[in-house]
Amino acid sequence: MQYSLVVGGELVPGARSLDVVNPATGDVFATCACADAEQVNAAIAAAGSAFSAWAASPASERSRMLEALADRIAAEAEELARLLVSEQGKPFGDAMGEIMASAAMLRYFAGFQLEDEVVCDDETARIVIHRAPLGVVAIITPWNSPVLMLANKIAPALRAGNTVVCKPAASTPLTTLAIGAMCAEIFPAGVVNVVTDANDLGDRLTANPAIAKISFTGSTATGCKVMANAAQRITPLTLELGGNDAAIVLDDADIEAVAPQILGAAMRNAGQVCLATKRAYVPEDLYDAMCDKLAELAGEIVVGNGLEQGVSMGPIQNRTQYEKVLGFLDIAKEDGRVIAGGEAIDGPGNFIAPTVVRDIASDSRLVTEEQFGPILPVISYSDIEDVIAQVNGSPYGLGGSIWCGDVSRGLAVAARIETGIVWVNKYMDLRFDVPIGGVKSSGVGVEMGREGILSYTRRTVINSQPASAA
Ligand code: NAD
Repeated sequence: MQYSLVVGGELVPGARSLDVVNPATGDVFATCACADAEQVNAAIAAAGSAFSAWAASPASERSRMLEALADRIAAEAEELARLLVSEQGKPFGDAMGEIMASAAMLRYFAGFQLEDEVVCDDETARIVIHRAPLGVVAIITPWNSPVLMLANKIAPALRAGNTVVCKPAASTPLTTLAIGAMCAEIFPAGVVNVVTDANDLGDRLTANPAIAKISFTGSTATGCKVMANAAQRITPLTLELGGNDAAIVLDDADIEAVAPQILGAAMRNAGQVCLATKRAYVPEDLYDAMCDKLAELAGEIVVGNGLEQGVSMGPIQNRTQYEKVLGFLDIAKEDGRVIAGGEAIDGPGNFIAPTVVRDIASDSRLVTEEQFGPILPVISYSDIEDVIAQVNGSPYGLGGSIWCGDVSRGLAVAARIETGIVWVNKYMDLRFDVPIGGVKSSGVGVEMGREGILSYTRRTVINSQPASAA
């Protein structure tokens, strides 16, 4: 298959090309188009030309096309999932889950009613909050869940009447290009554009004066650069960045019930999830039993090529991240006691054994930084106040979880955690109608839900003399 850029409704070859590596084998398995700076500018110009007509089109038409895209993605789900496994590494079942969730996300926003809000209508005034699209949105996505991250940005952006220029991560461009090609058949020319890069053109997008909004998911370090560019023109932006989510176990928790959930939340997608559990705090009295259970469960995880049956964890997506995770394994051995995993798995792929680390101090870098890999540090505590202080002391504020017997105690702790979302006795329960976003260094703004789609609009308050007084 040819993987082309999508510019102005046309599939166009790249000025450069990009080799795509399968992280489970280390082999280059596909080559795709890669844009240069001129092609990025051409995509922005095409999106700009398409904007007025798209914004003026009936909302029902925009919804119909989003539904058509969802239908097409669902119809080709297996092929897309296989492509996703090949470029990203996650197990096939998880890849199917990502593809189908993306189709469902498109349908949710297709059905979303974005109506003007009347805030006052009496003899003194009629005041309406009118919502209009912003213009060309730059959509920049990471490599851990490339399809879902794309869907949760294009769905609200297009439904609200914006046009888009999408740029996937350089190591996972193929699924985005494949969906871009579908969009070229469904949407009017220029409404959806897709460019790729060699991790070198993101700032061309964010610095371009024709960009009306930036929607970015990625690391906090890159998010800072995006924000600096946005500051030049006060460009509105949504930043979904890194996290260091804590699982806090209270002293009345049931270890047998809780341990599988904590481990699952830490190891999903080999730990490469922004909302993955990245550290666990366990009371002294439960510590040994919890560590033993977590280590036992980690040993049961089947690591391998996501296309093979029975595999429950894939590789680290790219070599740079793999080296970073190996560095965290060294820290784990130096600062704590490894009770499961602890090594890279031999072979050409970027495989790392699911790792659990105990007897680790809360100021170890494995605890204070974002590892973004399958290593779970477990920290013992005696005073819940210390735990809350440590968790809130992090520069990150994305998510977290509390595990308890008495839910009212869990809710009381949850209310004191300074993150965008906290789950109690559950994990990663994400809904399209519930806004999600980080605080502090984990981001600005939210995605999903009403708040999510409103962030792709400008608000104009129209305050008029009531007809009766005119
Ligand atoms: P990254 O920041 O390196 O890359 C993200 C995207 O930004 C890629 O498309 C990349 O090409 C692009 N980019 C690189 N330099 C840029 C620049 N100067 N200007 C604009 N764009 C630029 O992040 P990553 O390594 O792909 O992803 C991992 C990180 O993403 C982790 O920290 C993780 O926590 C975070 N993440 C957050 C969420 C969330 O919703 N909060 C979701 C997934 C991942």
